[in-house]
Amino acid sequence: MSKPSGVVPNHKHCPVCGVSISPSKNYCSTEHEEMDEKAQRRMRNFRSLTLLLMVVAMVALVGLTLYLRARG
Ligand SMILES: [Zn+2]
Repeated sequence: MSKPSGVVPNHKHCPVCGVSISPSKNYCSTEHEEMDEKAQRRMRNFRSLTLLLMVVAMVALVGLTLYLRARG
């Protein structure tokens, strides 16, 4: 009952909606391409914001520690 492997025709899936597309394309439509680009840009902004917040929190923590130590 086992099917031979490697007979699935070469194809890709749209990363936005998951629909089958030809291997030469990356998205099913320009609409979904733009959508994914926007999402990736937002994710990059979110990551840099998270990194900034972590750095600020770390600096604040170190500053507070030094401040409390200086006060003795
Ligand atoms: Zn799509």
